[in-house]
Amino acid sequence: MANLRFKVVAEAFRKRPLDVERRKERPSEYFGKLVFTREKMQRYLSEDVYKKLVDVIDNGAKLDSSIADAVAEGMRAWAMDNGATHYTHWFQPLNEGTAEKHDAFIERAEGGHGEGGDEATMVERLSGKLLMQQEPDASSFPSGGIRATFEARGYSAWDPTSPVFIIDDTLCIPTIFISYTGEALDYKAPLKRALRAVNEAAATVARYFDDSVERVVSNLGWEQEYFLVDEGLYAARPDLLLTGRTLMGHDSAKNQQMDDHYFGAIPERVQAFMKNLEIEALELGIPVKTRHNEVAPNQFELAPIFEETNLAVDHNMLLMSVMKRIARKHGFRVLLHEKPFAGINGSGKHNNWSLSTDNGILLHAPGKTPEANLRFATFIVETLMGVYRHNGLLKASIMSATNAHRLGANEAPPAIVSSFLGKQVSELLDHIEMADVDNILAMAGKQGLKMDIPEIPELLIDNTDRNRTSPFAFTGNRFEFRAVGSEANCASAMIALNAAVAEALVDFKKRVDARIPEFTEKLKGTEHSATFHAIIDVLREDIKTCKPIRFDGNGYSDEWVAEAEKRGLDVEKSCPKIFERYLDEASIQLFESLGVMTKKELEARNEVKWETYTKKIQIEARVLGDLSMNHIIPVATRYQSELLSNLNHMSVVFPIDTADKLSARNKKIIQEIAERTFAIEKGVEELVEARKKANKIESERDKANAYHDTVEPKLDEIRYQIDKLELIVDDALWPLPKYRELLFIR
Ligand code: ADP
Ligand code: MG
Repeated sequence: MANLRFKVVAEAFRKRPLDVERRKERPSEYFGKLVFTREKMQRYLSEDVYKKLVDVIDNGAKLDSSIADAVAEGMRAWAMDNGATHYTHWFQPLNEGTAEKHDAFIERAEGGHGEGGDEATMVERLSGKLLMQQEPDASSFPSGGIRATFEARGYSAWDPTSPVFIIDDTLCIPTIFISYTGEALDYKAPLKRALRAVNEAAATVARYFDDSVERVVSNLGWEQEYFLVDEGLYAARPDLLLTGRTLMGHDSAKNQQMDDHYFGAIPERVQAFMKNLEIEALELGIPVKTRHNEVAPNQFELAPIFEETNLAVDHNMLLMSVMKRIARKHGFRVLLHEKPFAGINGSGKHNNWSLSTDNGILLHAPGKTPEANLRFATFIVETLMGVYRHNGLLKASIMSATNAHRLGANEAPPAIVSSFLGKQVSELLDHIEMADVDNILAMAGKQGLKMDIPEIPELLIDNTDRNRTSPFAFTGNRFEFRAVGSEANCASAMIALNAAVAEALVDFKKRVDARIPEFTEKLKGTEHSATFHAIIDVLREDIKTCKPIRFDGNGYSDEWVAEAEKRGLDVEKSCPKIFERYLDEASIQLFESLGVMTKKELEARNEVKWETYTKKIQIEARVLGDLSMNHIIPVATRYQSELLSNLNHMSVVFPIDTADKLSARNKKIIQEIAERTFAIEKGVEELVEARKKANKIESERDKANAYHDTVEPKLDEIRYQIDKLELIVDDALWPLPKYRELLFIR
């Protein structure tokens, strides 16, 4: 068979950008076209039903099942007017993807019978009951044992806060996925609970500063990084196809060292893909805004305008699936894996996160008055408190077998969670910490708060003061959680972060309230605000407490690891071990006290995490074993045979001395191939043995650790030998598309 590699390379070169149909309408006009927006609700629902539904969405009112039928019918009518014939509950099980099971709207009309086939008795319908709850026979979704497979009961329940949308001919209804006994089997249920917790906690604290605040929402703006690879080349790489990353491949002589890809002109075929993607995303109500090339060749980024966190999470999940579909249309495959290629940058998904109030205040943004800036300092410090107390948990929330390849590498945040604040905010906190209260009190003035913090009112956060690799960086009016993986469901990180901050705010409020009487007493007869002074008092304590989380340095040096360890931060690097942070006393307490997850749920989720980790490494090990034996060794051996026959012929043509001299190099290569193929074969044998041994282990946790400690290192050893072979074996024989082809053809 002709070498598939050359065929697909030639084909890839011939591909031209697809014509993307130009829209007559403007983006603002087709935005949300396939979403059941409020405007459409108004059109398709009676006024009374509409009002009740909005109350559910905005104020968390209890869903009145009497309106469910009317809402469902309205949705169905709208969906059918837009070409839908089916509907599905759309949920996010614990396997990083989304799940759906389509049913048609069509059914027998009342009084119609199964037999007879009289089409006059058929109608389209969607009942409130089916809108609100379903029981997908989803017995094979991971549940960590919560739902023994024979019981097979998982319920999906409508989440009215995330609007329904249409994909192709199907109305998609965002739902949470829970077990018969109420345990969460997905990301969304605990996310919604964590969001409720942070919103409530933050609102009570925000009211210290502005008593008209009724609600606080958590905001999320994700930046999605990804690679595009030509589909033909992708198909010729079984490792990409089966594991999402290249398990072998020598560095391309040129990769990202010239920095000529970053922010460069977007390649034409890619541009067509992006245009197409953006149109579809906008139609689905995903407010995509930014696109650009990333650092590595064939790496790109897309970012929307931030939204309320629950919706932003849904939109990211939706976007990832739309991306995959559109990429194929353009002859690409999108790689969402965090580290598809060794030696060049991996992909992340920065989670820009902040809290804001219903009356439009961004709680993580500095303000213009001392009061506003005290509020700012409060939310910054209490965010840091949450991140400090739960830094290990936050790391666990972003950890996965795939993201583990990225963390700790040079370009990415290290596997230690710390926070970079920038010079001005750091100074502000230092200032608050240093000032002594008596001094502040002595500065007694006319009204309200008087603080010895003169620079606060002019606080303008300089955006250029940035640290690109900090895992949790303050960037002007938000924090950017950068360690999140490109493939991950953002919900995992958002559950941990919002819960951690909620806990810090609850605790803060308690302490402030407890101190107010004391300050009221002290400040009697002055016009000082006892509340503000109590706040400052608690803040100063907290600024000291959470100081270890603040780190302005870059990267992952040995010194930082040693220093972080001294500071008591979590420095564990092993993925399965990091998962244990979910079962720490402090984590269980956090999630249980806020009603986000129970210990049982946490344990079950960890089972899933460990099992998933094991499976991913197991698949990689199998694929690498197969490729080694079926692709690499045979080809290396074939080349070696050619060299051997050349050696023979040389000795026929030339006198033995001359032949020896002229063949010295080939002899060396023959030997090197022999040695390396021997090492590969031995490595594969050991790999199989290590797997066999690990597979016998009962506990998912121990098994994952065994895979981490004994199987995974073998992958690198084998790869090392293969990559060396790639350099010496005749290029014409090499079967797998090389890095230069995967990274530079588009
Ligand atoms: P970069 O970090 O590369 O400078 P941008 O400034 O474009 O990127 O912002 C990245 C993301 O952060 C976008 O999704 C944007 O909407 C979001 N974002 C901006 N301000 C906030 C905020 N206050 N809270 C949450 N997300 C925000
Ligand atoms: Mg960013």
